[in-house]
Amino acid sequence: ATQFGIDTALKALGIEALNNGTSTGSKNFGSGEILVSHSPVDGALIAKVKTTTEEDYYKVMATATAAFTTWRTMPAPQRGEIVRQFGNKLRELKEPLGKLVSYEMGKSYQEGLGEVQEMIDICDFAVGLSRQLHGLTMHSERPGHRMYEQYHPLGVVGIISAFNFPVAVWAWNTALAWVCGDVCVWKPSEKTPLCGVACQNIAAEVFKTNGLPEGISCLINGDYKVGEMMTTDSRIPLVSATGSIRMGKIVAQVVAARLGKSLLELGGNNAIIVTPDADIKMTVIGAVFGAVGTAGQRCTSTRRLIIHDSIYDKVKNAVVDAYNQLRIGNPLDENNHVGPLIDTDAVDMYNKALQKVVEEGGKVIVEGGVLEGEGYESGCYVQPAIAEAKPGFEIVQHETFAPVLYLLKYSGDVENAIGIQNGVVQGLSSAIMTNNLREAEHFLSVGGSDCGIANVNIGTSGAEIGGAFGGEKETGGGRESGSDAWKVYMRRQTNTINYTDKLPLAQGITFKL
Ligand code: NAD
Repeated sequence: ATQFGIDTALKALGIEALNNGTSTGSKNFGSGEILVSHSPVDGALIAKVKTTTEEDYYKVMATATAAFTTWRTMPAPQRGEIVRQFGNKLRELKEPLGKLVSYEMGKSYQEGLGEVQEMIDICDFAVGLSRQLHGLTMHSERPGHRMYEQYHPLGVVGIISAFNFPVAVWAWNTALAWVCGDVCVWKPSEKTPLCGVACQNIAAEVFKTNGLPEGISCLINGDYKVGEMMTTDSRIPLVSATGSIRMGKIVAQVVAARLGKSLLELGGNNAIIVTPDADIKMTVIGAVFGAVGTAGQRCTSTRRLIIHDSIYDKVKNAVVDAYNQLRIGNPLDENNHVGPLIDTDAVDMYNKALQKVVEEGGKVIVEGGVLEGEGYESGCYVQPAIAEAKPGFEIVQHETFAPVLYLLKYSGDVENAIGIQNGVVQGLSSAIMTNNLREAEHFLSVGGSDCGIANVNIGTSGAEIGGAFGGEKETGGGRESGSDAWKVYMRRQTNTINYTDKLPLAQGITFKL
């Protein structure tokens, strides 16, 4: 780690050996159990974090609630100015933060930097948005009346995030919520608590420099029990939760039971359809990056390749060839393509998936396996694998959160491929590789992909912040990031103003006294 400058990065980010995992800004505390963060890269202890107790949480919520009364009255463009400064701080600290993301989560350093770039991009987007946040005006049916709608902030937004995007998901939520006038309480994944501490340190400095109150950006830490403090708390009008479908189903029900709003960004089971008119070279790059990038631990990772039978062998051979060239190892070393999985539990799940596909009659054509020996001491490095499967297999219905790619065959029309693609419970990202306009348009039409993201001649993995991000069905239906995703962080109010001396009722109703 020292060799890759991790110590210097930790210092630049204010990470100590033992950190307070609860923070309202410049005030850091936390008296709960200690969470230990080990790197999947080399198994080393990075640092420890004190988790959040009920009493700590109480203090956080009191501070956040009080901060909201100040923050919401600050003009939105001025809040945008704070987000601009936050984005600039991220530019300054892009390298150390990218390095920490890589070291604590295990994704490549390039992808770590990419994640910080996404944070910077969403800040820029939010700054522009801070001068908009517009509603509509409508024509009233009553004479001398004006009608319009406006958006007001919601209050305290709770953010629960997953380990695989340990910093960007927070920024997608928080940059928008802040310009909207909300204050945020964030519980990062218990697998990546230091990324949370680092981000909070950066935000806290910006708020402090501007003389703003404590509580606009808050951090809490711990496992699902700390998450539950927020989902059950009726002072939190919106809970934005990113993670597994299993978690989303629980969170959705708990928040709905108190009639709160939830924004859910859950698992995917993303497929690329490869038609006879596909550019094979582009397909291979898209599919391989999609399947092995972040060691297959992206919500948009490519899980299934649905290939037309006429080109099946050609595509299969090209993809297998590419897999033979993959270098697996320390993600901070830019010569490697694939880093480790997050922990040994994830390695177990990967092994079980490979076992299961064989049990169901599938054929593993690129052998998997856990890597051992020098450089692989953490026990988290696995060989990216490819298995031939059938659409009806049980294993293909689930998200295998690891570098396992399933090859599925279709015959006949593209409609058959779309049927296979849509035939799972998840609905996040999808793609078609084709130079045939009819196939491409069919895929994007009402009878085409049922996913939140549908791409043509691009893989499933990754997205730009300008578009709304999220998926349908059991992916949860939430949308974050660009387009009009900001609306979920605000409450809409319809206003009608009468500037006459009469009081006509709507729908022509008369009421005489
Ligand atoms: P996870 O569901 O195990 O945990 C996610 C977060 O939820 C953690 O912070 C965890 O502590 C918290 N949590 C778990 N149970 C909870 C409960 N009952 N109440 C409140 N909080 C609870 O997910 P993970 O393993 O960290 O992440 C991987 C999953 O996340 C994959 O399924 C992946 O597809 C998904 N993901 C989705 C998106 C998206 O935008 N759709 C983005 C990233 C990750």
